[in-house]
Amino acid sequence: MALEVPLQTWCQQHPLIADLVRHAPVTWFNPGVAPSAQALGDVPLGAGDIAEASARLTRFAPFIASAFPQTQAAGGLIESPLLPLPGLQAALCDELDIAPLGTLWLKADNLLPISGSIKARGGIYEVLKHAEGLALAGGLLKPGDDYATLDSEAARAFFSQYSIAVGSTGNLGLSIGVMGARLGLRTTVHMSADARQWKKDCLRACGVEVREYDADYGVAVEQGRREADADPQCHFVDDENSTDLFLGYAVAAERLRGQLQAAGIVVDAEHPLFVYLPCGVGGGPGGVAFGLKQAFGDAVHCLFAEPSHSPCMLLGVYTGLHEQVSVYDFGLDNHTAADGLAVGRPSGFVGRAMQRLIDGYYTVSDAELFRLLAMMEKLEGLALEPSALAGVPGMGRVLQENQGYRQRLGLDERRMANATHLVWATGGSMVPREEMDAYLEKGRAIVHGRQGR
Ligand SMILES: *Cc1c(COP(=O)(O)O)cnc(C)c1O
Repeated sequence: MALEVPLQTWCQQHPLIADLVRHAPVTWFNPGVAPSAQALGDVPLGAGDIAEASARLTRFAPFIASAFPQTQAAGGLIESPLLPLPGLQAALCDELDIAPLGTLWLKADNLLPISGSIKARGGIYEVLKHAEGLALAGGLLKPGDDYATLDSEAARAFFSQYSIAVGSTGNLGLSIGVMGARLGLRTTVHMSADARQWKKDCLRACGVEVREYDADYGVAVEQGRREADADPQCHFVDDENSTDLFLGYAVAAERLRGQLQAAGIVVDAEHPLFVYLPCGVGGGPGGVAFGLKQAFGDAVHCLFAEPSHSPCMLLGVYTGLHEQVSVYDFGLDNHTAADGLAVGRPSGFVGRAMQRLIDGYYTVSDAELFRLLAMMEKLEGLALEPSALAGVPGMGRVLQENQGYRQRLGLDERRMANATHLVWATGGSMVPREEMDAYLEKGRAIVHGRQGR
């Protein structure tokens, strides 16, 4: 779809867009943010829906523990640790020449079991919900049964009558594919051109059918949707509009609340929590932010981070055009090394539902992602994939802003001194060694100035 107003006019009227189209890193604090008591009404889902999703994951825990032994220690719950980042915080504040205010933490979804990325929350949840519905309707399960029985030949034979499909840049396909195939569902993943070979190999090894496209994520989704629509036994996981995916992500918030309490971290008006979430189509960060707003209300401040070549959510919300607009309309190429974030058109569902709940949006260059990747490894010993670093610059953007954002929300020096900054690390533990070494090498070259930023 072409823009109704020429690009040049957009650039003249919206200075931010002029910066965006030349790939400059930008930060936009949303002037439309509203008290959560009001703005949560924009979301067609509530706390009860999150509680239901959480209860469903608990019902499935015995199956997950049986099918994926690496989750046994956690009782079949797919959860990640909360880790402090003292070394990285000191280095970042030093670089920016700012005094450390508050503390920096990492939500290490890179370590989520089964698929090693944030997609293990929403993607796996949607597969389980769909399977539960089929099993109850088909008499394979009765309410109150032990779901461990789903890890059986009989259950796999039952599920093999049904199929599930998804379009993906990689990580969603990996989550849906691994869980779908383990249950016995016939599973097809439509992969965009930028998807990594190792992800396709891994899926094929699990018995998943992988279709490859010589085009971007939007095309892979469209093609997948079309094929799935033609098959009445096929459930298509709709990354752009699925409320199930969204709720699966939202469950993260109550789990985080317990982890913050255990770490002695207070979150209230005097102790704000800032959360920096890498954003692709928007379902992952949107769902997590929805859960966080339900859990912490106005004490939590969520910001979305996107690559400077793929700022689809920022563009959609800033222009108010949401899914009607793509980064291509603004002359951007949607090329980024950040897997999962190479998305040209945002979810209209997430953009609209969350537009008064997200404090801000910012962009990061690929070079900066690689540089931070190397710093994270050196200072904290953590190996993340490039997308997962997008949250790291958030703390500096907030502490250095001069758009009146902190003043407007009453985030004064005293409160900022009590703040917790949480970087949501969205993936990394499944990246093969050689690939991770190449990422690190690239990052170190930038750190040591052997390559332009
Ligand atoms: C998918 C993904 C995201 C973003 O999630 P969306 O739902 O697409 O916004 C962030 N990081 C990684 C590593 C991902 O795979």
